Amino acid sequence: MQALDEPVGGLSRKLVVLGTGGTIAGLAPRGGDGIGYEAAQIGVAQLLAGQAAPAGLELLVEQVAQIDSKDMDAAVWRALAQRCADWLGRADVQGVVVTHGTDTLEETAYFLQAVLAPHKPLVLTCAMRPANAAMPDGPQNLRDALAVAASADVGGVVAVCAGTVHAAAEVRKLHSYRLDAFGSGDAGPLAYVEAGLLRQLRGWPRSASEGRLPDLLARLPVEPQAWPRVEIVVSHAGAGGAMVDALVRDGVHGLVVAATGNGSVHHALEQALLRAQAAGVAVRRASRCDQGRVWGAPGDALPDAGALSPVKARIQLQLDLLAG
Ligand code: ASP
Repeated sequence: MQALDEPVGGLSRKLVVLGTGGTIAGLAPRGGDGIGYEAAQIGVAQLLAGQAAPAGLELLVEQVAQIDSKDMDAAVWRALAQRCADWLGRADVQGVVVTHGTDTLEETAYFLQAVLAPHKPLVLTCAMRPANAAMPDGPQNLRDALAVAASADVGGVVAVCAGTVHAAAEVRKLHSYRLDAFGSGDAGPLAYVEAGLLRQLRGWPRSASEGRLPDLLARLPVEPQAWPRVEIVVSHAGAGGAMVDALVRDGVHGLVVAATGNGSVHHALEQALLRAQAAGVAVRRASRCDQGRVWGAPGDALPDAGALSPVKARIQLQLDLLAG
């Protein structure tokens, strides 16, 4: 394994592992504690220390961030997308693996797929137990992620957890504690990793060529406060419009409503969202249901977000606003 500050070269094909923190890099003060631990404590080079590189590939590592992914923000996303684009653009790089916290993994996956749409594999992986747990899940997840990224068949942004490969578009964290914490809803997973081999169930989210959307990456503002501000509000029993009105007064650019069922919104909240839209704020309706999608009807006053979850609809609306 080579660290990034050593000279990079040679003719060998490479897998690059980018560290961003998370529980996979976490430590519990008392080893074996699966709850009372600190995420993002050890470096990605240390996570790779016990891992063998897949046959014929050299491992390179780079620490892009060291955070609990609950604190993920635009600055880290931009830096991560740039490093992924740089590495994936090199002819000698087979694929990239990103170690990440589970809390916002689905958002980072969606963001990277939307901005980079890679042809090569870009594989996010994680853990539900800290690195010094009695039986950590991180090493096996990382091993599986390396196997996925090493496959010449794979392309696009995918997430690997508990032997299951999910597409960026569908992956969602569904459980707060179980090792198999992610699901892909009705679409189901893309593949399983079994003893280092891929059992593929459906097609990879692979683009025809690398760097399909370089303009979008170049357009991401350096300053996080320069990104369009998009907030999420929830429709629920007894909902009202005060929060939306306050956000509009505060200068919000976009609003996603986590709507009930097939995109229905409490009438009081709906009135406030219509006022916001009339004032120039972009509004999208996503469903707060874990599965299914919003089927819009012609003439809907508030546009829907299709199959996107509220957190993914928020990212898409930010990118739409950036694209003008
Ligand atoms: N809070 C952690 C994180 O998202 C949780 C995890 O990784 O499981 O970084």
